Amino acid sequence: MQYDNDNIFAKILRKEIPSECVYEDDHTYAFMDIMPRADGHLLVIPKGPVRNILDASPEQLAQCMETVQKLGKAVMQAFDADGVTLQQFNEAAGGQEVFHLHFHVLPRHEGIKTRPPGVMGDMAKIKAQADKIRAVLQS
Ligand code: 5GP
Repeated sequence: MQYDNDNIFAKILRKEIPSECVYEDDHTYAFMDIMPRADGHLLVIPKGPVRNILDASPEQLAQCMETVQKLGKAVMQAFDADGVTLQQFNEAAGGQEVFHLHFHVLPRHEGIKTRPPGVMGDMAKIKAQADKIRAVLQS
């Protein structure tokens, strides 16, 4: 399967469409999901053109996981969470909808289920949640 340069996350990386960034380094970019399934739901992506784990190099996967762990710890603190759920889908049959590798990071609280997929979030609330994550990362 080919990488599509016009997928929505490629456009986010090129700043052609806006995103609520919480963290970036030389290899990875982390930003809020616009259809959050939990408060603080964010996505970690590689900066390179990677479709999913099937064409990622071991180095790209390791770089993503380093950022996933950093952000996982940050959301635990920012949302006083009890746990963190990671989700990652590969190809349409595997549940992937955006064809640029991404890891979902969802802070979780005991007894609270994730919300249904496909529901647009309130951007003011999402920005406030991003502010909390950025504050933890800067502390
Ligand atoms: P998946 O490919 O993992 O099944 O789903 C893609 C994820 O990307 C969904 O959780 C969806 O809410 C999120 N998403 C889709 N389009 C955008 C967008 O334009 N901006 C942001 N921040 N997230 C998006």
